Amino acid sequence: MLKLKGATVRFGGRAVLDEVGLDVAEHEIVCVLGPSGSGKSTLLRAVAGLQHLDDGRIFLDGRDLDGVPAHKRGVGLMFQDHQLFPQRDVAGNVAFGLRMHGESKQRQALRVEELLTLVGLPGAQGRAVASLSGGEQQRVALARALAPRPRLLMLDEPLGQLDRSLRERLVVELRELFAELGTTVLAVTHDQGEAFALADRVVVMRDGRIAQTGTPLEVWQRPADAFVARFLGFEN
Ligand code: ADP
Ligand code: MG
Repeated sequence: MLKLKGATVRFGGRAVLDEVGLDVAEHEIVCVLGPSGSGKSTLLRAVAGLQHLDDGRIFLDGRDLDGVPAHKRGVGLMFQDHQLFPQRDVAGNVAFGLRMHGESKQRQALRVEELLTLVGLPGAQGRAVASLSGGEQQRVALARALAPRPRLLMLDEPLGQLDRSLRERLVVELRELFAELGTTVLAVTHDQGEAFALADRVVVMRDGRIAQTGTPLEVWQRPADAFVARFLGFEN
């Protein structure tokens, strides 16, 4: 469904994304892991159309995305710092993606109710964004990203601001949710526990390159090199 070929992004002569090749199949959940600065967010931004490629190609359903603007790519992106609209209430935030797609008021309200239930915030429609905890805000951001039913959903550190127990619970919920919706997911995290619990396949990045890709079990049992092993927390 998604294919990257030699995807390269340079900042000031340095390749932050260095000839990355990656295939994501329909309905697959792929988690990109790697230390801070390894290029994870840049990868997602490039697929979303928020970052221009200096080299290489990205295909979605066989279509070359070169020159296709972000809003026409059919991908959803949820940022690390979820950027909710502080002046809108919860419903206004979630409905944002629906209004863009021209749904009627009544259908919007039903869909918002459904989405808030899905993310575990039933009845939160009228609440002010400022009154929500970090975890609740992340759930709202997730509901907003899911609203237009993107075929490909990209999550950048989606659970970064939650405490560990909530994160572990939400990861299980998310897996079920994505399976149910049939959403293809490309998620970024620096938390390997989260990646291993969520992903069908993990991609480990280092300095803009893919150090290893495989199922969580494959990567865990056979790290490709010393870097991956160290990153996974093995001593040697
Ligand atoms: P990660 O998400 O894995 O932490 P990023 O993709 O955000 O990594 O960043 C990779 C590298 O690219 C970092 O060294 C970062 O400083 C650099 N970088 C990211 N965006 C820009 C930018 N707009 N201009 C210059 N350098 C950038
Ligand atoms: Mg990042």
